[in-house]
Amino acid sequence: MLNLFDPVIYTADEQSFVDGTLKPLKEEAWKDQKVKTKSLRNRISTHTIIAQGSRCAYCESPLVKGAHAIEHIAPKGLYGMFSFEPYNLVTACTSCNSPHNKGEKDTVKRPVNWWDYAANRFKIVHPYFDNPNDHFKYLDADKTMFDTPSCTAEAQETIKMMHWDETWAYSQRVRNARTGQPHQMR
Ligand SMILES: [Zn+2]
Repeated sequence: MLNLFDPVIYTADEQSFVDGTLKPLKEEAWKDQKVKTKSLRNRISTHTIIAQGSRCAYCESPLVKGAHAIEHIAPKGLYGMFSFEPYNLVTACTSCNSPHNKGEKDTVKRPVNWWDYAANRFKIVHPYFDNPNDHFKYLDADKTMFDTPSCTAEAQETIKMMHWDETWAYSQRVRNARTGQPHQMR
């Protein structure tokens, strides 16, 4: 998982559009088809892809054109008010984003703070709020094999949710370790 520090920063105009128009729409906000909303989504996408070095925020695989999407760490279906919250937005590959893996699964611990995103605690490792190195422990220097019992509860939950203990995911980490970083979008 990437350790991210650089969420999208809205202009004053974008921020007032988010607060005044999109936030009251809650879960509908993300699907809004206004030209202004579409261009905001495009800007979030471009920003996160660059900030992530064209890698998936979760599995670190190189992003492939047409096979990635903006991912809501707290899922937009359950937490519509956080749809445009910068710290809730990363770009993820189609695999991590799929319903089989992260999808719309609830990642927020109870009790939920509905008014202040940053005050929440998360069931999984959070790419902005956590340092993944503090959570994920490995058996090898290339970081391909998890030392699962030594991982924190949040890392163990991430591995389970993403199915990172399966053979395909192990092969993917081996491939990523071999290709080196950073990656260019292909
Ligand atoms: Zn991924």
